[in-house]
Amino acid sequence: MIDTDELAERNAGFADGGSFAGLKLMPSGSLTVIGCVDPRVDPSDVLGLKLGEAAVIRNVGGRVAPATLRTLEMLSKVVQARAGGPRPGHVHYAVLHHTDCGITDLVAFPELLADYFEVAAGDLDAKAVTDPVAAVRVDVEVLKQKLPDGVFVSGLVYDVATGLIEVVVPPARVEG
Ligand SMILES: [Zn+2]
Repeated sequence: MIDTDELAERNAGFADGGSFAGLKLMPSGSLTVIGCVDPRVDPSDVLGLKLGEAAVIRNVGGRVAPATLRTLEMLSKVVQARAGGPRPGHVHYAVLHHTDCGITDLVAFPELLADYFEVAAGDLDAKAVTDPVAAVRVDVEVLKQKLPDGVFVSGLVYDVATGLIEVVVPPARVEG
């Protein structure tokens, strides 16, 4: 396992690089990514994001669950509290799902998934848990219902076998 000595050594190398200096709280790329906790699919790596460019929310499956929406609501308050946040027309929310996702193993535990999505177990089919392409479309629609007018929402599926993403839903502007 990686211990704290190892982490501290790697961190010292990071600090030496200086890439952290002068970064702002607001993501410089006006991008928020919602992705999975799977160690193979870190959005910074697979999307080539630099430190400070994007806010990243990671959960099981990269799903837009009610808890995700609550996190986004909290972040919107932070943006409001800090003058100089980006205008809605310059903000992009990308949902990043992936192949071979462990969330598919949770189909055997419908009560867990029902809690996660805060729906009845009988309504889980609508969440398309076993199909990342369908699921990313579902989650983009949820975001479009909840996010303010003017922001852009997209849906991506990353293939763990090829290292490539498919743009399933190109950036679509939320309109009331
Ligand atoms: Zn996953």
